[in-house]
Amino acid sequence: MAFPITRLRRLRRTEQLRSLVRETRLTPEAFVYPLFVCPGKGIRKEVRSMPGVYNLSVDEAVKEAREVRSLGVPSVILFGLPETKDEVATGAWADDGIVQQATRAIKKEVPDLVVMGDVCLCEYMSHGHCGIVRATAQSLGAAAAAPPSATTEYEIVNDASLELLAKTSVSLAHAGIDIIAPSDMMDGRVAAIRKGLDDAGFINTPILSYAAKFASGFYGPFREAADSTPQFGDRRSYQMDPANLREAMREIELDLEEGADMIMVKPAMPYLDVIAAARQRWDVPLAAYQVSGEFAMIEAAARNNWIDRDRVMMESLVSIHRAGAGIILTYFAKDAARLLG
Ligand SMILES: [Zn+2]
Repeated sequence: MAFPITRLRRLRRTEQLRSLVRETRLTPEAFVYPLFVCPGKGIRKEVRSMPGVYNLSVDEAVKEAREVRSLGVPSVILFGLPETKDEVATGAWADDGIVQQATRAIKKEVPDLVVMGDVCLCEYMSHGHCGIVRATAQSLGAAAAAPPSATTEYEIVNDASLELLAKTSVSLAHAGIDIIAPSDMMDGRVAAIRKGLDDAGFINTPILSYAAKFASGFYGPFREAADSTPQFGDRRSYQMDPANLREAMREIELDLEEGADMIMVKPAMPYLDVIAAARQRWDVPLAAYQVSGEFAMIEAAARNNWIDRDRVMMESLVSIHRAGAGIILTYFAKDAARLLG
């Protein structure tokens, strides 16, 4: 039945009608709020390119966690800024690592908050890469003379890095992390982490894998927030090519085969097609990470009065939800929850 019998505008006439037929509804329960924890006490240092986002000392992170929970947001994900960095990412897996400390404090004070632990090595490595770095065979002579740099050949070693990732995951589980979320993009990490957790008795600790994580320019502001910029080269040898959807499906499939309980696509808005394809193909909980650059673009445009911040914020979140992500990691979690509340 076509026009004039059919008139789609009939159901758009009032907000009551629009609300009745709305297909996608956001709730704060879908949100995960990222926290960046740093050493010290009473520290709340704003990230220059991410207004309203802070590096927080453990005591301040606890306050933030309490506020997040009070707004109806069920979960946070923790990133750590360690006191010192080295070549084996000690800060990632040390029992008194910054995220381990924050986890214990938050789980003690806000026990019903689901605390996710991002598992990666870049924030704890002096070179800022997500795995162990080794000079490649062709350039050993050059590398012996100088540490790896933009001009020497280097490799992010896959298999040796798995051990550190598993060790980090077990350490976080010991500290009380509820969900382990590996973001490194090494091959085989989910299986290695699952085995590590099971061997240590954490058979009930779920894994949310950053299964399809793209080598994206949208991560820029995060690197300032987490102080994790690679000192040489880039991450294109392990993160995915932004052009590849079919490869993203393979990445997700492998992570599920290795034992991932939930999967994530990152970034979110430039990859809504990947989210939608994953939603159609697998019946597991699907998350998407609205990354720092997505957040910063909206904030910057709003500060120039070029867009209506709240409206664009909600539209961006609805689009991610509509594409199929039931869980959204977002720096807007608190503000969006306030608007929805
Ligand atoms: Zn990393």
